[in-house]
Amino acid sequence: MEEGMMMTTQQIGNVDSLHVKCYAGDMYLNYFLYFVDGMLVDTGPKSCANEIRPFLETKKINTVALTHFHEDHTGNARWLQDQMNPGIYIHPMAMEICARDGQYPEYRHEFWGSREGFEAKPIRTSVQSDNMEWEAIHTPGHSRDHLVFFHVKTGMLFSGDLFVTPKPKISMWQESIPTVMDSIRTVLTYDIGEMFCAHAGYVADGRKMLEKKLEYLVRTHEEIQHLYQKGLSLEEIDAQLYPESSPLTYISKKEWDSKHFVRSMVMDEPSLR
Ligand SMILES: [Zn+2]
Repeated sequence: MEEGMMMTTQQIGNVDSLHVKCYAGDMYLNYFLYFVDGMLVDTGPKSCANEIRPFLETKKINTVALTHFHEDHTGNARWLQDQMNPGIYIHPMAMEICARDGQYPEYRHEFWGSREGFEAKPIRTSVQSDNMEWEAIHTPGHSRDHLVFFHVKTGMLFSGDLFVTPKPKISMWQESIPTVMDSIRTVLTYDIGEMFCAHAGYVADGRKMLEKKLEYLVRTHEEIQHLYQKGLSLEEIDAQLYPESSPLTYISKKEWDSKHFVRSMVMDEPSLR
């Protein structure tokens, strides 16, 4: 099976976008790259480098802003560093992990390829593209280092993996869903307009979709808490609410599972910030 053979470019205002489909076997995952005002937001996965590099080669990339360290977002950072040497920025807590080659389960190597180590500089409160300043809002939950980039004047939001889908039913075991909920609440205190999601693509009304996801998570959190207080075990709640398991649960050898989603909803407290 050839990998990542589908790609589409799109211009949305001053944002250039590239959509790639990254295959492992018959299954694929979507990824969207964004370039705005001399700044690349995340670098896309290494597995789709053949589609991504020609897109990057046509751009004058001065800055790379990374939303978080995951390999689908950082897979081409090393190549960019070697070829163009832009300033590459990430949350300070992820600098060390980025300096080393990525360590993660085999199925993620198949979908996303192998992320090589690279040097990143710390993002404090904002990141600067050629002519625009982007607020870096700490939005943990999906990963501890997660940032979104927000432009106050236009309401544009690069949301990394904060959104992805309005109704998640599975999660990675490392994720904290109550913390994701708090992060969405934080972002909703800003005047959000257009949203650029790494896996769902362009979302014209970012605020509406983030509100929709938060409402769903609040409702689901109440439902799960209610069943737990009635005396059901985590296993019983999972079996009742999510009787069918997702193909990703199988493929990921349970790194992604509705069981993690249920456990996180019962056990996790939002992170202290
Ligand atoms: Zn991620």
